[in-house]
Amino acid sequence: MKKLMIIFSTLGLVLVATVAILLFLPDFPGFFAAEPAPAMAVLLPELPPPTQPVVVGEAGEARGLQEHDRYTHQTIQDFFTQNQFPEGFVADNSILPWYLKLVNRYNVMDDDFEIELAYIGQRYFDARATDALFAMIDYAGELDLNIVVLSAYRGISHQRWLFNNQVQRRLDAGDTQEQAFEAARRVVAYPGTSEHNLGLAVDLAVRGTYTLTEAFGQTDEGLWLVENAHRFGFVLRYPYYKQHITNIIYEPWHFRYVSEYHATVMFENDLVLEEYLFWLSLR
Ligand SMILES: [Zn+2]
Repeated sequence: MKKLMIIFSTLGLVLVATVAILLFLPDFPGFFAAEPAPAMAVLLPELPPPTQPVVVGEAGEARGLQEHDRYTHQTIQDFFTQNQFPEGFVADNSILPWYLKLVNRYNVMDDDFEIELAYIGQRYFDARATDALFAMIDYAGELDLNIVVLSAYRGISHQRWLFNNQVQRRLDAGDTQEQAFEAARRVVAYPGTSEHNLGLAVDLAVRGTYTLTEAFGQTDEGLWLVENAHRFGFVLRYPYYKQHITNIIYEPWHFRYVSEYHATVMFENDLVLEEYLFWLSLR
């Protein structure tokens, strides 16, 4: 009898501990979908007409460019016919504003990067971009598109846990250590090289779904985001046809905040952040 009680109370404790651990993993993809903020009336941000030259933002100013330095679609196209994007491109993050910091396998997060997090319902996101995120989700909601945040900010230790899990899966499947590492980093960013560590990326899904799949790209929500996220300052960060530049698989769910202005230039010129910063650095 006593033995039985000990077994039951141990089982109970394990159950409570498991639930507690799951609850405190706020951004483990697939467990809990964050509730978006209550709907509010949102107007679509006004954008300069695409044919009109626009003023370069803080990034350009930080590089000493003139306040009224301008670009046209043609100058960007010309630039990329003359310059090939270099594999291993490193951005000078020290002069870039917070929303343009580049984080990828060649650009590891600097330790002193300041993160201001805001609670967005079971998860955290950069406080300075939270309004933009909610504006996007709420605007979509008004169009009967139900977008939910499955993942946002992830601490480096959580990233390490996800990465090690992925490596282990490949090892179990028979990969060598090196193969497993290479395969894993295409799916889960190495700790310190994930935009989720930066607090500026979200993984989105259709409300009611709890996994991140390529199929999201074909849903009404996924298709709308591709065309409209830039109006709120977000970009589809890992498009299918840019995998050779991003070194990340196609992720139709992963959106990154870069500010309205820069998101619009990237969208209109079909550039991912790496290419855009390469252009900014050489022009
Ligand atoms: Zn993501």
